[in-house]
Amino acid sequence: MMISYCEKCQNNIPNPLLNPTDRNDLLAFVRANKPLQAMALLKEKEYMNLYDSKVFVTHLSETYGKCHKCNYDQLKHEYEVCPKCRALNINWE
Ligand SMILES: [Zn+2]
Ligand SMILES: [Zn+2]
Repeated sequence: MMISYCEKCQNNIPNPLLNPTDRNDLLAFVRANKPLQAMALLKEKEYMNLYDSKVFVTHLSETYGKCHKCNYDQLKHEYEVCPKCRALNINWE
């Protein structure tokens, strides 16, 4: 598992290799504003512990291209530091 670092909140962000089904389910939970279900999925499938899953889910973009922390909405890469607020975003399509 790769780890990224977020300057903004000073946390190490895990970067799990999810299988495609789990990844889709996870994104669906995040986009439905159900972060607790997203965290539970990561823990139940043994990708990571609950603390790491919370950090991870927090950094996922709820809307593709939009920063989870501020109103910047021009993110173009999967893992990108927001140029406006310096938060790391996991910007999955
Ligand atoms: Zn952060
Ligand atoms: Zn931002």
